[in-house]
Amino acid sequence: MDLYEYQGKELFARFGIPTSEGRLATNPAEARAAAEEIGGQVVVKAQVLTGGRGKAGGVKLAGDPDDAERKAEEILGLDINGHVVRKLWIEDASEIAKEYYLSVTFDRGAKQPLFMFTTQGGVEIEEVAANDPDALVRLHVDPLEGFQPWVARRLVYGAGVEDPSEQKQIADIIGKLYRCFVECDAMLAEINPLIVTPEGEVKALDSKFTVDDSALYRHPDIAEFRDTTAADPFEAFAREKGVIYVKLDGSVGILGNGAGLAMSTVDVVVVAGGKPANFCDLGGGGSAEGVVDALEVITRDPQVRSIFFNIFGGITRCDEVARGILEALERLEVAVPIVVRLDGTNAEEGRQILADAAPANLHVSPTMLDAARVAVELAA
Ligand code: GDP
Ligand code: MN
Repeated sequence: MDLYEYQGKELFARFGIPTSEGRLATNPAEARAAAEEIGGQVVVKAQVLTGGRGKAGGVKLAGDPDDAERKAEEILGLDINGHVVRKLWIEDASEIAKEYYLSVTFDRGAKQPLFMFTTQGGVEIEEVAANDPDALVRLHVDPLEGFQPWVARRLVYGAGVEDPSEQKQIADIIGKLYRCFVECDAMLAEINPLIVTPEGEVKALDSKFTVDDSALYRHPDIAEFRDTTAADPFEAFAREKGVIYVKLDGSVGILGNGAGLAMSTVDVVVVAGGKPANFCDLGGGGSAEGVVDALEVITRDPQVRSIFFNIFGGITRCDEVARGILEALERLEVAVPIVVRLDGTNAEEGRQILADAAPANLHVSPTMLDAARVAVELAA
């Protein structure tokens, strides 16, 4: 689950990482009131779950409450990378002398948290990694050993921070960020920029924070951060139904058993010249119940013109899935054609069951690529 900047900053503050005072606003009048309460210059920031807000005009300085109201009017409703701005964070403006970058993320390959730190902050970290890789210090933390103070020192010295007060403050923030990362079950905690003010004070000016969905049950307070109004309505419906679903922009609905196969199905539809409408993982099992739920979610999207049902039978047998599909089609009216590819355990039996029942609008293909071509053709 991705958090908004202001939510990530709230977590930072809980762990003692310095941030600026701010208020949330959903309309220009609230932005004005927030600026009045904060006093002085403020920064008006779009709260959307995407980066690059600054470049897109979603971050603006305002000299006084009137100005904050105007800037709020400009930013609200803005479309930033497909995310419409409905919330603003009004924050006490900081003076910036330097912009650094600090993050800790979970490196799945190494099975360890990975710190990244550079004094070239403010810009996209991928740019730094590509143009000046030596400027980016990377360091893993052994989770069994836990965080040790030398980790912070090595990051700070490695990046060439020379000012002793900065070194001390950043090392302190690194330790706190690690605790915040671990205790919140985060997958990513990023501060870009981590600024140094002209007075030499270090603080977090932005936050990008991702919490592991599977750990949310341990953090009811963080789970409450979820903004159901901003979520895609189809994805929200899928969550209600317990279906693993990601909305995409095309016309071929996709259903696979297992996340890997569903991903491959998305790819093969693209290879066949089509555009996937979604990613949907049926998981193990192929019960009618599960198939009905998944089909209900997929067909809710009016962009869907055909559905590619890709099943590889392992422990789940294809004949069971075939019966599940037939039962689902009896219970649910599906207006678009469905292309089924069955392979693996009991594939022959499964295909026979479907061929015998021969429901209208159901096509059976033996291979993945064939099935993709048919599904793409039917969606055209
Ligand atoms: P992003 O573009 O989505 O990453 O949003 P950020 O929160 O990182 O803001 C973008 C840029 O706006 C920062 O890199 C800063 O240069 C600038 N900015 C943000 N807050 C302030 C502030 O309080 N004062 C000043 N002077 N600039 C700010
Ligand atoms: Mn940023």
